Amino acid sequence: MGRYTHQWGKYKKSRRIFYYGMALYLPLGIIPLSIGSYMPEDMHLLPLIIYFMIFVILMIFANIYFRVFKCPRCGDYFFGSPLQILLNFNLHILIDECHHCGLKKYAEDGYDVYTLG
Ligand SMILES: [Zn+2]
Repeated sequence: MGRYTHQWGKYKKSRRIFYYGMALYLPLGIIPLSIGSYMPEDMHLLPLIIYFMIFVILMIFANIYFRVFKCPRCGDYFFGSPLQILLNFNLHILIDECHHCGLKKYAEDGYDVYTLG
């Protein structure tokens, strides 16, 4: 067990929750769709629209939660400041090292990438 195993575990867990939520969206969408079929004709899509809005709001919060992950070594935002995260909203998956100290994603000690004077 490395020095940062606990922090990386928390990051992986939050990311996993986000991706499982994305994967469950379509299968669970059958429920509001079937509820809508029992409603009056002009309200068929209302449960589906409500389901979609709730899903989008939850996914935005889940996404922000794992994007503001703090680097285990330097303690700063791993993917950059919140403003940089907003500007590069979908590119954080491609980032594989800390924006501030260069710690590689999932590295346990980081000494191999940390250069001292
Ligand atoms: Zn760092």
